[in-house]
Amino acid sequence: MASHNFSIEFFPPKTAEGAEKLRATRAKLSELHPKYFSVTFGAGGSTQRGTLDTVLEIMAAGEDAAPHLSCVGGTRESIRAILSEYKAHGIKRLVALRGDLPSGYGAAGEFRYANELVEFVRQETGDWFHIEVAAYPEVHPQARSPQDDLQAFVRKVDAGANAAITQYFYNADAYFQFVEQAQKAGVTVPIVAGIMPITNYTQLMRFSDMCGAEIPRWVRLKLASFGDDSASIKAFGLDVVTQLCERLLQGGAPGLHFYSMNQAAATTALWQRLVKD
Ligand code: FAD
Repeated sequence: MASHNFSIEFFPPKTAEGAEKLRATRAKLSELHPKYFSVTFGAGGSTQRGTLDTVLEIMAAGEDAAPHLSCVGGTRESIRAILSEYKAHGIKRLVALRGDLPSGYGAAGEFRYANELVEFVRQETGDWFHIEVAAYPEVHPQARSPQDDLQAFVRKVDAGANAAITQYFYNADAYFQFVEQAQKAGVTVPIVAGIMPITNYTQLMRFSDMCGAEIPRWVRLKLASFGDDSASIKAFGLDVVTQLCERLLQGGAPGLHFYSMNQAAATTALWQRLVKD
Protein backbone atom coordinates (compact mmCIF):
# COMPACT_ATOMS: atom_id res chain seq x y z
CA MET A 1 0.00 0.00 0.00
CA ALA A 2 2.82 2.43 0.81
CA SER A 3 3.79 2.57 -2.84
CA HIS A 4 0.29 3.65 -3.81
CA ASN A 5 -0.85 7.18 -4.21
CA PHE A 6 -2.90 7.52 -1.06
CA SER A 7 -4.44 10.88 -0.09
CA ILE A 8 -7.07 12.24 2.31
CA GLU A 9 -9.61 15.03 1.81
CA PHE A 10 -10.84 17.58 4.37
CA PHE A 11 -13.26 20.48 4.19
CA PRO A 12 -12.34 23.80 5.84
CA PRO A 13 -13.83 24.02 9.33
CA LYS A 14 -16.37 26.79 9.85
CA THR A 15 -15.89 27.32 13.60
CA ALA A 16 -13.01 27.48 16.07
CA GLU A 17 -14.30 24.22 17.55
CA GLY A 18 -14.28 22.59 14.11
CA ALA A 19 -10.72 23.80 13.54
CA GLU A 20 -9.63 22.27 16.84
CA LYS A 21 -11.30 18.99 15.95
CA LEU A 22 -9.68 18.95 12.53
CA ARG A 23 -6.26 19.45 14.11
CA ALA A 24 -6.78 16.28 16.14
CA THR A 25 -8.13 14.42 13.09
CA ARG A 26 -5.16 15.45 10.98
CA ALA A 27 -2.68 14.44 13.67
CA LYS A 28 -4.26 10.97 13.79
CA LEU A 29 -4.45 10.56 10.03
CA SER A 30 -0.83 11.74 9.63
CA GLU A 31 0.15 8.49 11.32
CA LEU A 32 -1.04 6.70 8.17
CA HIS A 33 1.51 8.72 6.13
CA PRO A 34 -0.72 9.80 3.26
CA LYS A 35 1.01 11.34 0.26
CA TYR A 36 -0.92 14.57 0.84
CA PHE A 37 -4.08 16.05 2.33
CA SER A 38 -6.45 18.04 0.13
CA VAL A 39 -8.84 20.76 1.29
CA THR A 40 -12.08 21.58 -0.53
CA PHE A 41 -13.07 25.01 -1.82
CA GLY A 42 -16.55 26.53 -1.77
CA ALA A 43 -17.86 27.64 -5.15
CA GLY A 44 -18.20 31.39 -5.28
CA GLY A 45 -15.23 31.69 -2.94
CA SER A 46 -17.23 31.13 0.27
CA THR A 47 -14.43 29.18 1.96
CA GLN A 48 -11.49 30.63 0.05
CA ARG A 49 -9.80 31.89 3.21
CA GLY A 50 -10.67 28.73 5.12
CA THR A 51 -9.16 26.58 2.38
CA LEU A 52 -5.86 28.47 2.40
CA ASP A 53 -5.69 28.68 6.20
CA THR A 54 -6.31 24.94 6.52
CA VAL A 55 -3.73 24.10 3.84
CA LEU A 56 -1.12 26.34 5.51
CA GLU A 57 -1.75 24.73 8.88
CA ILE A 58 -1.27 21.25 7.40
CA MET A 59 1.94 22.35 5.68
CA ALA A 60 3.21 23.95 8.89
CA ALA A 61 2.79 20.53 10.53
CA GLY A 62 5.19 19.12 7.92
CA GLU A 63 2.64 17.46 5.61
CA ASP A 64 2.01 18.06 1.93
CA ALA A 65 -1.34 19.70 1.16
CA ALA A 66 -3.38 20.61 -1.91
CA PRO A 67 -6.05 23.28 -1.98
CA HIS A 68 -9.02 22.61 -4.25
CA LEU A 69 -9.81 25.51 -6.56
CA SER A 70 -13.17 25.87 -8.27
CA CYS A 71 -13.55 28.37 -11.08
CA VAL A 72 -17.31 28.81 -11.41
CA GLY A 73 -18.23 32.36 -10.44
CA GLY A 74 -14.57 33.39 -10.66
CA THR A 75 -12.86 35.83 -13.01
CA ARG A 76 -9.45 35.58 -14.61
CA GLU A 77 -8.32 38.27 -12.23
CA SER A 78 -9.67 36.60 -9.09
CA ILE A 79 -8.20 33.21 -10.04
CA ARG A 80 -4.87 34.84 -10.94
CA ALA A 81 -4.77 36.44 -7.47
CA ILE A 82 -5.46 33.11 -5.77
CA LEU A 83 -2.79 31.34 -7.83
CA SER A 84 -0.14 33.91 -6.99
CA GLU A 85 -1.04 33.73 -3.30
CA TYR A 86 -0.76 29.93 -3.38
CA LYS A 87 2.56 30.21 -5.20
CA ALA A 88 3.88 32.74 -2.71
CA HIS A 89 3.11 30.26 0.08
CA GLY A 90 5.04 27.51 -1.71
CA ILE A 91 1.94 25.45 -2.47
CA LYS A 92 2.79 23.05 -5.31
CA ARG A 93 -0.39 21.00 -5.70
CA LEU A 94 -3.87 21.96 -6.83
CA VAL A 95 -7.16 20.11 -7.33
CA ALA A 96 -8.80 22.06 -10.19
CA LEU A 97 -12.58 21.98 -10.52
CA ARG A 98 -15.47 23.78 -12.08
CA GLY A 99 -17.49 23.67 -8.85
CA ASP A 100 -21.24 24.14 -8.44
CA LEU A 101 -22.89 27.49 -7.91
CA PRO A 102 -25.33 27.59 -5.01
CA SER A 103 -28.88 27.98 -6.36
CA GLY A 104 -29.91 31.59 -6.82
CA TYR A 105 -26.31 32.66 -7.17
CA GLY A 106 -26.89 34.23 -10.58
CA ALA A 107 -24.58 34.26 -13.59
CA ALA A 108 -21.41 32.20 -13.79
CA GLY A 109 -18.06 33.95 -14.10
CA GLU A 110 -15.47 33.85 -16.85
CA PHE A 111 -14.84 30.10 -16.74
CA ARG A 112 -17.48 27.63 -17.87
CA TYR A 113 -15.73 24.29 -17.44
CA ALA A 114 -12.79 22.86 -15.55
CA ASN A 115 -10.67 22.38 -18.69
CA GLU A 116 -10.65 26.19 -19.06
CA LEU A 117 -9.33 26.51 -15.52
CA VAL A 118 -6.59 23.93 -16.09
CA GLU A 119 -5.57 25.74 -19.29
CA PHE A 120 -5.49 29.07 -17.44
CA VAL A 121 -3.41 27.69 -14.56
CA ARG A 122 -0.87 26.32 -17.04
CA GLN A 123 -0.79 29.62 -18.98
CA GLU A 124 -0.27 31.63 -15.81
CA THR A 125 2.04 29.39 -13.82
CA GLY A 126 3.61 26.90 -16.24
CA ASP A 127 4.59 23.68 -14.51
CA TRP A 128 4.59 25.08 -10.99
CA PHE A 129 1.51 23.15 -9.85
CA HIS A 130 0.83 19.43 -9.88
CA ILE A 131 -2.81 19.52 -11.03
CA GLU A 132 -5.49 16.94 -10.23
CA VAL A 133 -8.89 17.02 -11.90
CA ALA A 134 -12.18 15.25 -11.14
CA ALA A 135 -13.41 12.12 -12.93
CA TYR A 136 -16.86 10.49 -12.85
CA PRO A 137 -16.95 6.71 -13.35
CA GLU A 138 -20.75 6.79 -12.93
CA VAL A 139 -21.10 9.91 -15.14
CA HIS A 140 -21.41 13.50 -13.92
CA PRO A 141 -25.09 14.31 -13.17
CA GLN A 142 -25.19 17.22 -15.65
CA ALA A 143 -23.47 15.43 -18.53
CA ARG A 144 -25.40 15.23 -21.81
CA SER A 145 -24.19 11.65 -22.26
CA PRO A 146 -21.49 9.30 -20.93
CA GLN A 147 -19.54 9.87 -24.17
CA ASP A 148 -19.70 13.66 -23.76
CA ASP A 149 -18.58 13.35 -20.15
CA LEU A 150 -15.62 11.20 -21.16
CA GLN A 151 -14.66 13.76 -23.82
CA ALA A 152 -14.90 16.53 -21.19
CA PHE A 153 -12.58 14.50 -18.98
CA VAL A 154 -10.09 13.98 -21.82
CA ARG A 155 -10.14 17.74 -22.52
CA LYS A 156 -9.24 18.47 -18.89
CA VAL A 157 -6.33 16.06 -19.02
CA ASP A 158 -5.16 17.42 -22.39
CA ALA A 159 -5.28 20.93 -20.93
CA GLY A 160 -2.47 19.88 -18.59
CA ALA A 161 -3.73 17.82 -15.63
CA ASN A 162 -1.16 15.49 -14.06
CA ALA A 163 -3.67 13.10 -12.48
CA ALA A 164 -7.34 12.61 -11.66
CA ILE A 165 -9.42 11.74 -8.61
CA THR A 166 -12.81 10.13 -9.09
CA GLN A 167 -16.13 10.94 -7.52
CA TYR A 168 -16.90 8.21 -5.02
CA PHE A 169 -18.70 5.08 -6.16
CA TYR A 170 -19.47 1.61 -4.79
CA ASN A 171 -19.39 -0.24 -8.10
CA ALA A 172 -15.83 -1.23 -9.00
CA ASP A 173 -16.84 -2.19 -12.56
CA ALA A 174 -17.87 1.39 -13.28
CA TYR A 175 -14.36 2.49 -12.32
CA PHE A 176 -12.56 -0.15 -14.38
CA GLN A 177 -14.75 0.55 -17.41
CA PHE A 178 -14.14 4.31 -17.09
CA VAL A 179 -10.36 3.86 -16.82
CA GLU A 180 -10.35 1.56 -19.85
CA GLN A 181 -12.37 4.03 -21.92
CA ALA A 182 -10.18 6.94 -20.83
CA GLN A 183 -7.04 5.01 -21.75
CA LYS A 184 -8.52 4.12 -25.13
CA ALA A 185 -9.11 7.84 -25.63
CA GLY A 186 -5.40 8.46 -25.01
CA VAL A 187 -5.35 9.32 -21.28
CA THR A 188 -2.17 8.12 -19.59
CA VAL A 189 -2.31 10.03 -16.27
CA PRO A 190 -3.19 8.09 -13.08
CA ILE A 191 -6.90 7.99 -12.20
CA VAL A 192 -7.04 7.63 -8.42
CA ALA A 193 -10.25 6.17 -6.97
CA GLY A 194 -12.22 8.42 -4.60
CA ILE A 195 -13.44 6.46 -1.58
CA MET A 196 -16.29 7.50 0.71
CA PRO A 197 -16.34 5.47 3.95
CA ILE A 198 -19.87 4.51 5.00
CA THR A 199 -20.70 5.74 8.49
CA ASN A 200 -24.10 7.40 8.30
CA TYR A 201 -27.03 6.21 6.20
CA THR A 202 -29.00 9.48 5.90
CA GLN A 203 -25.96 11.55 5.04
CA LEU A 204 -24.78 9.01 2.48
CA MET A 205 -28.16 8.97 0.73
CA ARG A 206 -28.32 12.78 0.64
CA PHE A 207 -24.80 13.19 -0.80
CA SER A 208 -25.22 10.41 -3.29
CA ASP A 209 -28.42 11.93 -4.69
CA MET A 210 -26.60 15.21 -5.21
CA CYS A 211 -23.43 13.92 -6.83
CA GLY A 212 -24.85 11.04 -8.84
CA ALA A 213 -23.18 8.15 -6.97
CA GLU A 214 -25.21 4.96 -6.98
CA ILE A 215 -25.68 3.00 -3.78
CA PRO A 216 -26.23 -0.64 -4.80
CA ARG A 217 -29.70 -1.84 -3.81
CA TRP A 218 -28.44 -4.58 -1.49
CA VAL A 219 -26.17 -2.10 0.33
CA ARG A 220 -28.96 0.48 0.64
CA LEU A 221 -31.49 -2.05 1.95
CA LYS A 222 -29.06 -3.50 4.47
CA LEU A 223 -28.06 -0.05 5.73
CA ALA A 224 -31.72 0.96 6.03
CA SER A 225 -32.50 -2.22 7.95
CA PHE A 226 -30.04 -1.24 10.70
CA GLY A 227 -32.17 1.81 11.59
CA ASP A 228 -30.47 3.80 14.36
CA ASP A 229 -27.96 1.06 15.08
CA SER A 230 -24.92 3.11 14.18
CA ALA A 231 -22.43 0.40 15.21
CA SER A 232 -23.95 -2.08 12.73
CA ILE A 233 -24.00 0.55 9.96
CA LYS A 234 -20.31 1.27 10.54
CA ALA A 235 -19.30 -2.39 10.74
CA PHE A 236 -21.19 -3.30 7.56
CA GLY A 237 -19.94 -0.14 5.81
CA LEU A 238 -16.37 -1.02 6.72
CA ASP A 239 -16.74 -4.50 5.21
CA VAL A 240 -18.29 -3.20 1.98
CA VAL A 241 -15.76 -0.41 1.46
CA THR A 242 -12.75 -2.57 2.41
CA GLN A 243 -13.78 -5.11 -0.23
CA LEU A 244 -14.24 -2.32 -2.77
CA CYS A 245 -10.75 -0.92 -2.05
CA GLU A 246 -9.18 -4.36 -2.26
CA ARG A 247 -10.78 -5.00 -5.62
CA LEU A 248 -9.69 -1.62 -6.91
CA LEU A 249 -6.08 -2.03 -5.83
CA GLN A 250 -5.88 -5.61 -7.08
CA GLY A 251 -7.38 -4.47 -10.39
CA GLY A 252 -4.66 -1.86 -10.86
CA ALA A 253 -6.04 1.37 -9.36
CA PRO A 254 -2.98 3.60 -8.89
CA GLY A 255 -4.19 4.86 -5.53
CA LEU A 256 -7.05 5.84 -3.24
CA HIS A 257 -8.30 9.27 -2.16
CA PHE A 258 -10.36 9.14 1.03
CA TYR A 259 -13.24 11.57 1.56
CA SER A 260 -12.67 11.71 5.32
CA MET A 261 -15.50 14.16 6.17
CA ASN A 262 -13.01 15.50 8.73
CA GLN A 263 -13.29 12.28 10.75
CA ALA A 264 -10.30 10.05 11.51
CA ALA A 265 -11.98 6.83 12.65
CA ALA A 266 -13.48 5.45 9.43
CA THR A 267 -10.46 6.17 7.22
CA THR A 268 -8.10 4.74 9.85
CA ALA A 269 -10.17 1.56 10.24
CA LEU A 270 -10.26 1.07 6.48
CA TRP A 271 -6.56 1.73 6.15
CA GLN A 272 -5.71 -0.76 8.90
CA ARG A 273 -7.76 -3.44 7.20
CA LEU A 274 -6.09 -2.76 3.87
CA VAL A 275 -2.53 -2.92 5.15
CA LYS A 276 -3.33 -6.12 7.05
CA ASP A 277 -4.71 -7.93 3.99
P1 FAD B 1 -16.24 19.85 -15.47
O1 FAD B 1 -15.15 18.92 -15.80
O2 FAD B 1 -16.18 21.22 -16.05
O3 FAD B 1 -17.61 19.15 -15.90
C1 FAD B 1 -18.86 19.66 -15.45
C2 FAD B 1 -19.98 19.17 -16.37
O4 FAD B 1 -19.92 19.86 -17.61
C3 FAD B 1 -19.93 17.69 -16.73
O5 FAD B 1 -21.26 17.25 -16.83
C4 FAD B 1 -19.27 17.67 -18.09
O6 FAD B 1 -19.64 16.54 -18.86
C5 FAD B 1 -19.82 18.94 -18.69
N1 FAD B 1 -18.93 19.59 -19.67
C6 FAD B 1 -17.60 19.79 -19.59
N2 FAD B 1 -17.16 20.46 -20.67
C7 FAD B 1 -18.24 20.70 -21.45
C8 FAD B 1 -18.47 21.38 -22.68
N3 FAD B 1 -17.46 21.96 -23.35
N4 FAD B 1 -19.73 21.44 -23.18
C9 FAD B 1 -20.77 20.88 -22.52
N5 FAD B 1 -20.62 20.23 -21.33
C10 FAD B 1 -19.38 20.14 -20.81
N6 FAD B 1 -16.84 21.12 -5.69
C11 FAD B 1 -16.54 22.27 -5.04
O7 FAD B 1 -17.31 23.24 -5.12
N7 FAD B 1 -15.43 22.39 -4.26
C12 FAD B 1 -14.53 21.38 -4.15
O8 FAD B 1 -13.53 21.52 -3.45
C13 FAD B 1 -14.79 20.16 -4.85
N8 FAD B 1 -13.92 19.12 -4.80
C14 FAD B 1 -14.15 18.00 -5.56
C15 FAD B 1 -13.18 16.98 -5.57
C16 FAD B 1 -13.37 15.83 -6.34
C17 FAD B 1 -12.29 14.78 -6.36
C18 FAD B 1 -14.57 15.67 -7.09
C19 FAD B 1 -14.80 14.42 -7.88
C20 FAD B 1 -15.53 16.68 -7.08
C21 FAD B 1 -15.34 17.85 -6.33
N9 FAD B 1 -16.25 18.90 -6.32
C22 FAD B 1 -15.97 20.07 -5.63
C23 FAD B 1 -17.52 18.79 -7.06
C24 FAD B 1 -17.41 19.38 -8.47
O9 FAD B 1 -17.13 20.75 -8.41
C25 FAD B 1 -18.74 19.14 -9.17
O10 FAD B 1 -18.91 17.78 -9.45
C26 FAD B 1 -18.96 19.98 -10.42
O11 FAD B 1 -20.34 19.86 -10.78
C27 FAD B 1 -18.16 19.57 -11.63
O12 FAD B 1 -16.85 19.93 -11.51
P2 FAD B 1 -15.77 19.40 -12.59
O13 FAD B 1 -14.51 20.05 -12.29
O14 FAD B 1 -15.81 17.94 -12.70
O15 FAD B 1 -16.42 20.06 -13.92
